[in-house]
Amino acid sequence: MFSRLATRSVASSRPLARSFAAPQQSWSRGMKVLAILYRGGDAAKQEPRLLGTVENQLGIREWLESQGHEYIVSDSKEGPNSDLAKHIVDAEVVITTPFHPGYLTRDLLNTAKNLKLCVTAGVGSDHVDLKTASQKNIDVLEVTGSNVTSVAEHVVMSILLLVRNFVPAHEMIERGDWQVSEIARNAFDLEGKTVGTIGAGRIGYRVLERLMPFDTKEHLYYDFATLPAEAEKKVRARRVEDLKEMVAQSDIVTVNCPLHEGTRGLVNAELLKHFKKGAYLVNTARGAICDREAVAQALKSGQLSGYAGDVWNVQPAPKDHPWRTMKNPLGAGNGMVPHYSGTTLDAQARYAAGTRTILENYLKGKAQKPEDTIVKDGKIFSKAYGGK
Ligand code: NAD
Repeated sequence: MFSRLATRSVASSRPLARSFAAPQQSWSRGMKVLAILYRGGDAAKQEPRLLGTVENQLGIREWLESQGHEYIVSDSKEGPNSDLAKHIVDAEVVITTPFHPGYLTRDLLNTAKNLKLCVTAGVGSDHVDLKTASQKNIDVLEVTGSNVTSVAEHVVMSILLLVRNFVPAHEMIERGDWQVSEIARNAFDLEGKTVGTIGAGRIGYRVLERLMPFDTKEHLYYDFATLPAEAEKKVRARRVEDLKEMVAQSDIVTVNCPLHEGTRGLVNAELLKHFKKGAYLVNTARGAICDREAVAQALKSGQLSGYAGDVWNVQPAPKDHPWRTMKNPLGAGNGMVPHYSGTTLDAQARYAAGTRTILENYLKGKAQKPEDTIVKDGKIFSKAYGGK
């Protein structure tokens, strides 16, 4: 039913434009919008709420075409013959998603003759070369806040499944085995443990809020910005200015900052040496913030007891990616899943609606929300990405 490239020709969209568009409005001009989304397959055909898929197209095709715009949707994003490379050349707007990132590199952006706006359907625009986008005066926006609760819940779940040694316990049951001591020898309570977050923004703060009922010992955070005193008090958070000091005091470290030049490879072999022996690390921010080999090695040696998350340095992750199968010395400690924490059906409804709002603002010449703005007027605007 769905071709690999889900698009209608410009010609086929014109009659719709005539019947629905209001000709007086300046935003009835036709433009080319390209969306690179993940393929949803049978699941997307059966579940229309999977809006962020090639099949369901963020739910905006009818609306865009009714305005006379051309809308091209594909999952083909790698290499010179991809739909991304082919269509970016004359697209005015490119929509991408962190879940199946269309990497908007310097080389690719330099081929874009008409590009004015990149929209991230979700949160996290590190797959866009923000420096090149600002040099080329291409605005970059994302749907800030759209999935932060979804991710915070996933972080808390991941902390619990590592600390309580859940995954091998379930696998044991599926195998037909029953050996309680094998699991209990490395299962603990979350109560009384110290949790440190790298980044205490929307997600990091929500994680700390959600940990409060577990009677954790202390919450630490490492961030450019200090939280207001009231906000710190509410989640029992203490800022630690030196990252090495923070990880040295934490039983569990969770990564909740964006990926940018200052955070790429931040959790590397050197920093991992400063972690408490047998600590847990949860990263749902971006794979490349943690060094691939250093993490695998730290888990293998037991320096880390567990690593969990849903983000990978390349997505989709290659079949032989070490994070798929890495284990601690007891054959456990891996809570890795595909990138889905921020794409629950609730989140998809929010980021699809937010994408449409950004497009509406753009088409009507209305100001965008400052919190959604990553690059604007030739400058990196967002403080979280190093903007001033
Ligand atoms: P946010 O902007 O609200 O918070 C990010 C925080 O990180 C800010 O407080 C910022 O000051 C801090 N920060 C930036 N650079 C830092 C550094 N070098 N050291 C310490 N702190 C630093 O963003 P958010 O909504 O909380 O999202 C955070 C990140 O989570 C996103 O950028 C994205 O990469 C990731 N994310 C993942 C998913 C998913 O599905 N896995 C979904 C949404 C967001």
